[in-house]
Amino acid sequence: MKDTCIIDLDGTLSDCNHRLHHIKNKPKNWKAFNAGYRDDILIKPVFDILCSIQNKYRMVIMTGREASKDGMLHTLEWLNTNGIFITNVLKGYGFELRVEALLMRPQGSYEPDYVVKESLLNTLKENGHNPVIAFEDRPLVIDMFRRNGLYVFNCNQDTTNEE
Ligand SMILES: [Mg+2]
Repeated sequence: MKDTCIIDLDGTLSDCNHRLHHIKNKPKNWKAFNAGYRDDILIKPVFDILCSIQNKYRMVIMTGREASKDGMLHTLEWLNTNGIFITNVLKGYGFELRVEALLMRPQGSYEPDYVVKESLLNTLKENGHNPVIAFEDRPLVIDMFRRNGLYVFNCNQDTTNEE
């Protein structure tokens, strides 16, 4: 069985800069932030690298986005618009990047993303996966993956080093 590659969405595969202002200041407007998924731009360098390694690994998207009805619909719509195909969710042809699963934050969870993702990582392992590499942009999540023995490709392009 192939090893697993974990892929983050926001800030790694999708450029969410245009909606970050909704959560930079308090009160944070998560509703407006989340409503902007569909306007994200694909981060092409990451997409190209993922396409080039997709036959070597089981590809899994792991996102801190909540698995609410809208969250799932908007995320799947964005993935499809950008040529990314979730093999166990939708059937179709003509997609460039094939991903085995989409793992999202459980509905109603407000835990920090590194806590949510460590839990999702354990769920993956319990389901027979052997995660060995990850593409991620958040420092605390990167640390968590490294503590768990993964080799992480740090996709953080923020020159101010803000979380
Ligand atoms: Mg991210």
